[in-house]
Formats: sequence, C-alpha cells, structure tokens
Amino acid sequence: MNLREETKAVLNKYGLRANKKLGQNFLINEKIIEDIVEKAEISKDDVVIEIGPGIGSLTSCLIANAKKVIAIEIDSNMVDILKARFGIFDNFEVIYGDVLRTNILELIKDYESVKVVANLPYYITTPIIMKLLEDRLNLKSITVMVQKEVGERICATNKDKEYGAITVSVQYYTSPKIIIDVPKENFLPAPEVDSCVIKLDILEKPRVEVKDEKLFFRLVKGAFTQRRKTINNSLTSSGKSKEEISDILTSLNIDTKLRAENLSIEQYAQIANML
Ligand code: SAM
Repeated sequence: MNLREETKAVLNKYGLRANKKLGQNFLINEKIIEDIVEKAEISKDDVVIEIGPGIGSLTSCLIANAKKVIAIEIDSNMVDILKARFGIFDNFEVIYGDVLRTNILELIKDYESVKVVANLPYYITTPIIMKLLEDRLNLKSITVMVQKEVGERICATNKDKEYGAITVSVQYYTSPKIIIDVPKENFLPAPEVDSCVIKLDILEKPRVEVKDEKLFFRLVKGAFTQRRKTINNSLTSSGKSKEEISDILTSLNIDTKLRAENLSIEQYAQIANML
C-alpha cells in the first residue's frame, strides 16, 4: 500500500476526515519525508520537536532516526491515532495541546541537541516560527514545510520583491534556505498552492547587534506597513519627527528616498541604534 492509500485507510478506520480549519494536509510522499529527515540532519544525538504530527507519517521516520521525538498535536483524534501507532516506542511522546500555548522550554530543558521538524499548519505558520525564535529555546535548527510563497519571503534578500518584515525578523535569528520544493499533489487533501521545506539554522548570536530589540522590531514592522512611502516618512512611526529621521539617515549615509524593501538588516539595526 502506498502512503496515499495508507493515509486514507487510517482516516477511514477512525471515521475521520482531514480538518481544514486545523490546516490538515497530510504528506503522502514517502520520498519527500525521507528527504526532509535527511536534510534536517537528524541523528541519534538529536531530540526532535514535531509540531502537528497528524496521523504520524513524518513522525514514523523521525522516531527511526532521532534519539527522541516529542510531538505536539492540537487534534485529540490525531493524538489517539498517534498513541495507537507509536505508543510502543519509548523514544516517542505526544503532547495534546496548542503549540502556541505550550511551554516548549520546559519540555526540552534536559536535552542538549534539539531540532524542530514539522509540516506546519499553514494558518499559523508565522506565529509558530516567531514563537520558536522569540522564546530563545536554544534550538539547533528548524526544518519546516511552509507555503512556497512564505518560504520565499523568509529566504529573500533586500534585492528581491519578496523581502519584508518577516524576512528581517527571521534572518535576525537564523540563516534560512529553501531545501526542497514540494508541489501540492504531494498532500492529501491537496492544498491550493505549492509548498517548500525551509531549514533555519539558528545563529549563535543575532545577526546584528541592537541595543533595544523591541524598538528594532517595531521600526522594521512600521517601515514595511507603509512600504510605499519613503523611509524618511515611514520611519516616523518610531515616534521621531521627519527632520530627526532625516538627520539620522544622512549621518548613516542612507538615502532618505529609499523604501522599506531597500534597507538591509544591518541598516535597520544602525537606524534603531541611533533612535
Ligand atoms: N505532520 C502531518 C503530515 O505531514 O502529514 C500533518 C501536517 S498538517 C499540515 C498540520 C497538523 O498540525 C495537523 O495534524 C493539525 O491538526 C496540527 N495543528 C493545527 N494547529 C495546531 C496547533 N495550534 N498546535 C498543534 N498542532 C496543530
């Protein structure tokens, strides 16, 4: 039986259908699953946090390769399936709950090498990634399936049209790359758009030094919310006047007529540190 048929059979057995509201699009390509685990560089030294394991297609490959898998799943029906399938493995644990409300730090505090691997529910991709980064979990890497467009935005440079606040926020903490392209036919049910797997290698320290992180992120968000305006105008959302912003930009040798998407992360940091 191939994975598509197996997934249908498991859902049928439990009288279930994919729950759209929970972003349930199950991966049905064994090769892609193996490729994800290989490229995430999972070994018997690693504890893996899997977010949204679903019926466990990726989980099964992770259990075979990792020291331990801690899976967090919001759907109690899936939790029942996972317990039935993997309850016999002593390197598997499933937590029933919403990942955004889970104290992940507490779950991993005893482990040294922790990596996140997941096919994320698309309706909360960004909040999940930002939580993993902002909670400072001391993770080694985050390897996740996301919508292709989101992956491109996260991995963009300030020369690309996809460059945005999410690019700067994620690249502040990590070095991201797209590692696998995944067309929509590889899921059951197939989503509307294609996906990709991104790997975020966590930097030992943030990419740029900022005196006040909150101010830095506020500045970046403010700039991109008004991305059509020149930075001389959009950066006034920081509370400084147009003249003050103009002086700061001039002293940093940054053209006041540029727009949010033209500034590098380093330049945002320089400006934030002058405010
Ligand atoms: N990992 C499975 C696979 O690849 O076939 C399923 C991936 S599916 C795209 C997303 C999974 O995340 C679903 O199982 C869904 O129930 C779960 N999920 C959705 N929202 C969640 C949340 N807030 N916390 C934890 N899991 C969630």
